[in-house]
Amino acid sequence: MKYEKTINSILVLAILTGSGTFYYQNYVKSQCDSPITYKLGDFDEEFGITKKDFLSSIDIASNLWSKSINKTLFKYNENGDLTINLKYDSRQKTTQTNQVLKADTDKLNTSALNIKQQYLTLQEEYTQDEKEYTNLVSQFEINQKSYNDKVTYWNAHNGAPEDIYNALVAEHKKLESDYSLLEQKRTNLNTVVENINNFIHTYNLLVDSANQNINKINESAGKEFEEGIYDPNTNSITIYEFSTDKKLIRVLAHELGHSLGLNHNQNPKSIMYAMNKANNLELTTDDINDLKIKCKLP
Ligand SMILES: [Zn+2]
Repeated sequence: MKYEKTINSILVLAILTGSGTFYYQNYVKSQCDSPITYKLGDFDEEFGITKKDFLSSIDIASNLWSKSINKTLFKYNENGDLTINLKYDSRQKTTQTNQVLKADTDKLNTSALNIKQQYLTLQEEYTQDEKEYTNLVSQFEINQKSYNDKVTYWNAHNGAPEDIYNALVAEHKKLESDYSLLEQKRTNLNTVVENINNFIHTYNLLVDSANQNINKINESAGKEFEEGIYDPNTNSITIYEFSTDKKLIRVLAHELGHSLGLNHNQNPKSIMYAMNKANNLELTTDDINDLKIKCKLP
């Protein structure tokens, strides 16, 4: 009897050991083999995206992880365990303001470049016309001196004979018409100069406005802030800021990575890098290797 009992207790121990191992395997299984179910929580409309678009971004972000190991890691369920929130505050507001400023700056720069091209063309024309004008003035001065010398000469000789007198009158008329042509050219040149100066003034105003915008953007750019967070205590992800669709997918993928139990890695291109610097929508091998370790995959 006693002997048998001893065998019995060894058997019980063996079963306990077995079930312990099984329990551990079951724990690993829940991490990667059965998908994390997620639902939407708070959703602030001020971001300007629809719930449908937000869900589709979550889908793309979660698929980055799922596809990398060929397992469904996340699944939408209106009663899901993981809550994903989209929360609007000063962070997104700053980003939106900067986007408007950036678009405005781009327009200002384009206009400024246009204006610059116009005044450079005008300046080229002006240089050419001004040279021509200066030559005409020199020629006019020579003609004028020649006329004046002749008049002085004939005045000193008690007047010119009729034919010479008539020739001088014609020469005088020609000088007058040349002079008025020169005056017209001078006025035109001054108008061109005025136009060039107006263009330069406008150009400077545009560049000034663009610089003011850039300064405003730079003022806020120095401040790093959290774009999103995964809170393991409430099992929730909250997104606070994104500037583009890609950045949204990246921050979602990052926080979903945390919800899988992943930590940051040191590759700046990684989804699990501490900062959302890159724009690629692929996991790096560092990301995938960490996931494989988490999921006990080879
Ligand atoms: Zn993080």
